[in-house]
Amino acid sequence: MKAARIVKPKESLQVQDLETPKPKGSQVLVKVLASGVCHSDIHLWEGGYEGPGGQFLKTTDRGVKYPVTPGHEIAGTIEAIGEESECLFAKGDKILVYPWVGDGVCPACRVGEENLCDKPKSLGIYVDGGYADHVLVPNYRYLVKIEDDMDINEAATLSCSALTAYNAVKNANLRPDDNLVVVGAGGLGLMAMQLAKAVTGAKIIAMDLEDEKLKQARKDGHADDFVNSKKEDPVKAVMELTEKMGADAVIDFVNASKTVETDMQILRRRAKVVLVGLYGGELKLNLVTMPTRAYRLIGSYTGSLSDLTELVSLANRKIIKPVVSDRFKLDQATEALSKLKDGKIMGRGVINP
Ligand SMILES: [Zn+2]
Ligand SMILES: [Zn+2]
Repeated sequence: MKAARIVKPKESLQVQDLETPKPKGSQVLVKVLASGVCHSDIHLWEGGYEGPGGQFLKTTDRGVKYPVTPGHEIAGTIEAIGEESECLFAKGDKILVYPWVGDGVCPACRVGEENLCDKPKSLGIYVDGGYADHVLVPNYRYLVKIEDDMDINEAATLSCSALTAYNAVKNANLRPDDNLVVVGAGGLGLMAMQLAKAVTGAKIIAMDLEDEKLKQARKDGHADDFVNSKKEDPVKAVMELTEKMGADAVIDFVNASKTVETDMQILRRRAKVVLVGLYGGELKLNLVTMPTRAYRLIGSYTGSLSDLTELVSLANRKIIKPVVSDRFKLDQATEALSKLKDGKIMGRGVINP
């Protein structure tokens, strides 16, 4: 099998010939047809990201070992199944892989939140992932069947990009009469807008620095109102759009010091601030307003296997539609990551091995 691997951080990915694994027990070998390119792949590629006080947090300190094959948004077909007799899948089935594999025994795993496991074994981060023509999945229960007529590239983006958006919307706990501000109208922001509209009915205000992205928020995200925070004062604009009440919830897909400082100024009492983006930075909080205005600050990271099955159900029925904008071959993996890093991918980029 062939895989595009990070051999050393910051260096171009190498396409390597590897032994194709043979699935044992409950393992499944999946033929990869599409693998999404995610922002967190850039952290893996760069060997870390910026933590508190500008300190660099290394991936190797978190248990990542190089060389590694990135790619955690994996869709494809079943190639081979281990000898486990109870597997309900068959060779050739069109499936999506849930990559947020945990150890199965920590408190998070016990309640079905494997994505928050104490000792994660996520595919494409700790274990070889989907920038390859084949991937070994540790157990068939991490597979979710998708409809034959679902676009395979769009399907791939469900397991991280859309899953993250879905869990963030769930964490915002919205009601139909709520005002939701979505900060960042990129791929995740667009999906969160679609999901919030379809599942909660909340009124959506899209916020971004670029008119082009706000235009897409109107077309693909079905947002109700728009704020260009580069051209107008975002606090004033949101207050006007919410009849001076402020937002009931903010989901921040950028999560930089500057965006969260703004988020904290546009909140109605009891508002929830859901932080999702991995941009990073620091925040000064006014501590008294936290209790008196009863804000909730919530961190949201990917989603659970049951979230993914709910999401696939929505996608199978065409209630949501992921936006895939760029396609790459396996030997273009470095180009794909560079383009994403430079902000030149409008929806989601996908590798077709
Ligand atoms: Zn991801
Ligand atoms: Zn666990």
